[in-house]
Amino acid sequence: MDCLFCAIANGEIPSTKVYEDDQILAFRDIDPQAPEHILIIPKQHIKWAYDITPENAGVVAHIFATIPRIAKDLGIEDGFRIVNNCGDIAGQSVKHLHFHLMAGRPFGWPAG
Ligand code: 5GP
Ligand code: ZN
Repeated sequence: MDCLFCAIANGEIPSTKVYEDDQILAFRDIDPQAPEHILIIPKQHIKWAYDITPENAGVVAHIFATIPRIAKDLGIEDGFRIVNNCGDIAGQSVKHLHFHLMAGRPFGWPAG
C-alpha cells in the first residue's frame, strides 16, 4: 500500500521522532502551524477516524494516554490543542489516522 505515514512508521521515509514505542510514533510536522506541532500516529494502518472500532480503539487510547508524557517531555506547560481531521471536508490530506498535537501559541475557537 502506498501510504506516507506507513512509510514514516517503518522508517522508509525519515522523520524527526519525539516519541516511539511498539504501537505508536510521534514526529514533528514538516510544515508546522505552531511553535510545537507534532503528529501522533498508530503504526498500524488505520485510514481515518471512521475506521476506529472497538477492536482497534486500544491504540487510540494508548495515543491519548501518551500525549501527556509527550507534552511534558517537550516542555509544554501551558496547554495544547489536539486535532484530528477526518475526511477531505475537514482537511485530511494524509489518509492514515493521525492526531496533531499543537502548542506554543494561542488557538482560536471555533477552529476555522
Ligand atoms: P492532515 O492535513 O492530513 O490533517 O495532516 C497531515 C500533516 O502531515 C500536515 O500537517 C502536513 O504538514 C504533514 N506532512 C505531510 N507530509 C509530511 C512528511 O513527509 N513528513 C512530515 N513530518 N509531515 C508531513
Ligand atoms: Zn498508512
